Amino acid sequence: MSGNEQKYIDEAFETNWIAPLGKNVDEFEKEVAKYNGTAGAAAMSSGTAAIHIALELLDVRQGDIVFCSSLTFVASANPIYYLGGEPVFIDSEYETWNMSPVALARAMEEAQEKEKLPKAVVIVNLYGQSAKMDELMAICDLYGVPVIEDAAESLGSYYKGKHSGTFGKFGIFSFNGNKIITTSGGGMLVSNDVGKVERARFLATQAREKARHYQHQTVGYNYRMSNILAGIGRAQLEVLDDRVKARRAVFARYEKALGGIEGISFMPELTGTYSNRWLTAMEVDPEKLSVTANELMDALEKENIEARPVWKPLHMQPLFEGCKFYAHADDDVVSERLFARGICLPSGSNMTVKEQERVIQVIRERLG
Ligand SMILES: *Cc1c(COP(=O)(O)O)cnc(C)c1O
Repeated sequence: MSGNEQKYIDEAFETNWIAPLGKNVDEFEKEVAKYNGTAGAAAMSSGTAAIHIALELLDVRQGDIVFCSSLTFVASANPIYYLGGEPVFIDSEYETWNMSPVALARAMEEAQEKEKLPKAVVIVNLYGQSAKMDELMAICDLYGVPVIEDAAESLGSYYKGKHSGTFGKFGIFSFNGNKIITTSGGGMLVSNDVGKVERARFLATQAREKARHYQHQTVGYNYRMSNILAGIGRAQLEVLDDRVKARRAVFARYEKALGGIEGISFMPELTGTYSNRWLTAMEVDPEKLSVTANELMDALEKENIEARPVWKPLHMQPLFEGCKFYAHADDDVVSERLFARGICLPSGSNMTVKEQERVIQVIRERLG
């Protein structure tokens, strides 16, 4: 917390707006839209809810196909199932660890041949790093397929000078407890289509029609953000840029201390992009180091230091068994390689230099 949160919470209490609507919600939406330079924003109870509403707005229905990044948290794809859609997973590429334009192009060509194009493409910006948006958007535009940018992890990041999350038809952010800024739980849908943003608010408020009585003709959801939590979000947004600087400093210290070691490589930052470095992730080459990523995580765990693998690709999850997957190349499945070799290091914005030095020391010792 930054210190100002209580002020906005107190305001909600004093004005007795303890509801999923009120001044904090309205202002938080305006402030997030202004920060990112989008025409509109709709506050949701979670990032997952925002993805669900975005897919709903793009008319995803039973049996529809939706393309999605494979190397991501399950929340990117779960809402496809909520709507009865069929996810098709797209591999990563090396320069961003995000969706491979080569694999996407192949998937689109095949979908076109079968005359069953996807209703949407969910593009994830992993650990703060933007995907290759120019290339990916060009492919999606060519086939006329709308994009949902899952920017849950990349609030405060930029791609070629433009805010991450503002490239697709919709962008979504998360304010879950582990994200770069938090409302304890919450999310936001952003778009330049203000009509759709208004429709998102409507769907997220049980799709209650404009009438004095309770009138309903569409299925709705209870997905709006609480006015108290939006108060926390307003104060958090004020310090977002500081948080990004802190995370980037954490990354830079790890890279300086360990990046020179043959066999360790850090998550790249594509030229022209600026990552919030939500998590510091690195790749461990077991051949060069004679230590696997797992063994390194074991060594850290022994010292009570929590590190984690990078996301297990969704095409490898039992939940999505039978779903189609397009690899970067036949003999090169980039997301599987990153899963086998990747480690996310402790990266909190409030980490002290001393704490970080301890992590670095344990890694150095294990590597010998
Ligand atoms: C956190 C996260 C989400 C979901 O956000 P919630 O607010 O936790 O529902 C979606 N996608 C990615 C990539 C995430 O990291």
